[in-house]
Amino acid sequence: MVETAEGTKMEVTKTRTFGARAWIDKPLSVFRVARHLFARAQLKRTLRVGVVGIVAGFVLLVISGQLKTMAGEIVAIWIADGYLLGHTLVLARRHKPVFLLGASVGMLIANLMGGETLYVALSFTLAGMVETCFAALMLPCVKTARDLVQPLALLRFALGASIVAPVLSGIVAALLLEGIFTSHPFSSFSNWVISDSLGILIFTPVTLVLLSGEWRSLLRPGNRVKSVLLLAMIVSVTVLVFLQTSYPLLYWMLPPLALLAFHAELSTVLLGTLLFIAISVPLTVRGTGPLWLFSFATMQDRVLALQLFAIAALSIVLPITVLQTQRTALLALLADGHRRFRQLAEHSEEVMVQLSAQGLFQYVSPRAVSVLGYDPATLLGRQILDLVHEDDWPQLKSTITGASAARAQESVQYRLRRANNIYIWVRSVVAAMPADVSEDEAALAFTVRDIDTYVLSEQRRSAEEQRLKDLAFIDSLTGLRNRRYLDSKVSELLQSLSTGVDVRQVAVLFADVDYFKTYNDRYGHQAGDECLRKVGKCMEATITSADILARYGGEEFVVILEHCGYQESVESAERIRVAVEAMALVHDGSPLGIVTLSIGVAQYALGRSANAADLFSKADSALYKAKRLGRNRVG
Ligand code: GH3
Ligand code: MG
Ligand code: MG
Repeated sequence: MVETAEGTKMEVTKTRTFGARAWIDKPLSVFRVARHLFARAQLKRTLRVGVVGIVAGFVLLVISGQLKTMAGEIVAIWIADGYLLGHTLVLARRHKPVFLLGASVGMLIANLMGGETLYVALSFTLAGMVETCFAALMLPCVKTARDLVQPLALLRFALGASIVAPVLSGIVAALLLEGIFTSHPFSSFSNWVISDSLGILIFTPVTLVLLSGEWRSLLRPGNRVKSVLLLAMIVSVTVLVFLQTSYPLLYWMLPPLALLAFHAELSTVLLGTLLFIAISVPLTVRGTGPLWLFSFATMQDRVLALQLFAIAALSIVLPITVLQTQRTALLALLADGHRRFRQLAEHSEEVMVQLSAQGLFQYVSPRAVSVLGYDPATLLGRQILDLVHEDDWPQLKSTITGASAARAQESVQYRLRRANNIYIWVRSVVAAMPADVSEDEAALAFTVRDIDTYVLSEQRRSAEEQRLKDLAFIDSLTGLRNRRYLDSKVSELLQSLSTGVDVRQVAVLFADVDYFKTYNDRYGHQAGDECLRKVGKCMEATITSADILARYGGEEFVVILEHCGYQESVESAERIRVAVEAMALVHDGSPLGIVTLSIGVAQYALGRSANAADLFSKADSALYKAKRLGRNRVG
């Protein structure tokens, strides 16, 4: 096909106009074809095809004449038309008419040289051409013997080319030559049709095999010996059957022919049939063979019976060969597919598994050995859940159910026990098997990939991440949460308010160590640090785990109590204050003599418009008030 859009269109037009009708309907395309044929580059090739046609027509007619003489002036098989049809089929479309024209000229010359009158020679040639052209039109897409044995082509070949075409040419010959011959072999319509039919049935496929190069398969080392033995068997049985006249052993031919059909390729089968005819006809004509056990009016009738037997045998043998060829091709395809699958399965990083709907292993690829440490055969029939960590059962079960129900692909991560009893993390992609692949409609295709290293390093990474995150939120002095943590918690809280909760009761306690500057001054900074740690621990022990406690900075601490009313929050603050007071940490610098806390309490019904600054300012004022009123109190 030419690459350009315009060129492509041209090719399509040509293809369509090469049919027989186009030659009559479209003179323009005939002109285009003629111009194409005589284009300088093509001319030489076209002429060569024409010359080959002349030679083929001439030689075939001479050989057929010789065969006729050999068979006692009876035409057992007319090879000319069978060959010409086969040769026409393999040629390019534009060369077919040239070849047939050449063959007509060749046959005409041979007929004339054989002593026929010009009228008779022309009639024979015309009848032959009618047959070949009609048969060729019946098989437009056949270029090889393999094409010929496709079911539809075979039907057209058996009915159109091998029956209708010979009958048509027989009618043409009978009409043209009526009354000219009386005792000539061609005067018999039935002999004409049957010998032509046999010629086409055998020689067309033989020619296709020879010209398309398919004969090379005969020489394939695997086939050679078998083919030769089978052909030798055909020859021996034919000779045995046709050299004697005592027993009606014609049916003996059927088993060897059937054996040939089952075990040989098309070309060998055709050759075998041809050998059968080549041996049986001359022997019958010379006076031996099972057909002499029956009384026939003429020798022609006896040969006719033999021809009919050959056609009947072929009609059994050819379909068997065709089916066998298809079966062999299918088996090769299957083996190829299987080999490809094994190759992929063995070299894939994943274990390929087929599971029944109940989770039983139906197929396990050899990769299981290296990934899981199991011999695939030992897994067949076992339940996959037996190898899966119990904690992961629900997840795997729901994935399998999901994949089967939705007939979609799902993936799941779980722990699978290796043969050494160690669990590894794997990822599986689960998909429902196509119904035509598995008998079990609910079967699942399953892949298992070892992701243990990945999962473990991922777990380590996220643990480390969490640790760092926690560190960033910890106050290094007291071990309590720090102000950064408090800020993030507060913004989380406000965020949740803006997305749904209407109002939330929240209390903020702002605690500050009293006279701490003097504590430092008196006992030193180190002791001050120790004091802060003790106060922090004490506060932590007093609040509940739901409350948020953080060191806000310096000697200040914040507690946030959620879902807490005002009275409740004051009580909590008081508990904290009392607890610190109860520690009775000596503080000579304080008028109170011990370390104490002042705590400012603020309680809010927080709504959407709340902000962080509001949250602390009220508590800060309350703390200031507590300080002003004498410290060691809740304000
Ligand atoms: P008030 O009763 O009004 O709260 O008086 P105060 O002295 O506690 O208040 P002020 O804010 O004047 O003093 C706080 C002191 O806390 C000042 C500083 O030296 C001390 N401080 C802040 N952070 C630390 C710390 O990490 N360690 C130690 N040892 N002291 C700290
Ligand atoms: Mg302070
Ligand atoms: Mg203070």
